[in-house]
Amino acid sequence: MNSNKMIIVFYGELSTKGKNIMDFIRLLGKNIKESLKDFNLTYDIKKDHIYIHLQNENVTEITQRLKKVPGILSFSIATRVDKEFPLHSDDINRQVGGHILKNNPDSKVDVHHPELLLHITIREEGCYIYGYKIKGLGGYPLGIQGKCLSLLSGGIDSPVSLYLLMKRGIKVEAIHFMAPPYTSNMVIDKIKDLLSVLNDYQSSIRLYLVNFTELEKKIYEVAGPSYLVTIMRRMMMRISSIIAKRNNDLILATGESIGQVASQTLSSISVIDPTSSLAVIRPLATYDKTDIISLAQQIGTYEISIRPYEDCCTIFPIKDPVTHPDIKTVLKIEESFPYEEMIKQCVDSVAVLDVKRDEEEL
Ligand code: ATP
Ligand code: MG
Repeated sequence: MNSNKMIIVFYGELSTKGKNIMDFIRLLGKNIKESLKDFNLTYDIKKDHIYIHLQNENVTEITQRLKKVPGILSFSIATRVDKEFPLHSDDINRQVGGHILKNNPDSKVDVHHPELLLHITIREEGCYIYGYKIKGLGGYPLGIQGKCLSLLSGGIDSPVSLYLLMKRGIKVEAIHFMAPPYTSNMVIDKIKDLLSVLNDYQSSIRLYLVNFTELEKKIYEVAGPSYLVTIMRRMMMRISSIIAKRNNDLILATGESIGQVASQTLSSISVIDPTSSLAVIRPLATYDKTDIISLAQQIGTYEISIRPYEDCCTIFPIKDPVTHPDIKTVLKIEESFPYEEMIKQCVDSVAVLDVKRDEEEL
């Protein structure tokens, strides 16, 4: 009897997508191939499953990679045997069950709490046998939702928000505001290291680095310590939305979580948000800090995020930051300096870098 080993990939929410389903599956297939491109594998991309044919590859490594491909609900390592018997499912159940019992005298029949659920799928081309289903990431195939520009600070929260976006099928680009020479170059290494971890989910992530020093100094001068963060955030939104539009990013995203700090109260968000000319989503808006930390630990960004290098938000002492910024005060501060010109300078001097999965292995 011929037998061969393969992985069967099961889709999750994809199956509810009706007419577009083949686009989803094709993209998922492409992303899986990209993730496993250094293995010489063959694939069958079908409407209900993707079959990955195995020879003698390192299945553990393949399993680790597949666990990080958005859009996979679960997958199983299966064996295909020829279908040579015209039996009904009841007959097969009885025959296979009998065979297992005969060859494993210690095993018992327990249909309610089985130790292992053995699946047998019979199709035209053959019969597939598999045991465990390995849980995938779920979500949608990366890229199916288009592109988003994510504000990435190097703190604990924003890398987690990028992960959640990618899991949902959104391709991410990152923008980071720095204030040299006040911020150290180590911050850039930290941002690159964070993106390298996230490269497990998206093989190449574009990073925009904005020199925010002059604008930030000016804001501190005109706004003072309590309105500094509010005005800084408004400027970040303006700059990010211009860069996003230039690069076909459909929306902006931040790592904000409601109430976590003064600039993240609903009052603050309502004063900051309208400065973006694009929709802004906040994947962590309703998350507790402890849950964000667990996720950061799970995906491997936490240890990098807690490195001591600070981003531009911490170079000036922030005193009594407003939790309920007054929009009239904000507008008055902004009228007092030529911020549009300064924004233009930031946008024109942006540095662009692609952080890629393969670079890490070199
Ligand atoms: P994080 O852990 O992501 O830094 P936080 O709780 O420290 O979040 P803030 O520092 O107030 O909160 O930042 C809120 C959000 O604003 C960040 O999640 C990020 O999206 C954005 N942001 C803050 N600072 C920067 C920066 N220097 N560059 C890019 N984005 C930033
Ligand atoms: Mg921060």
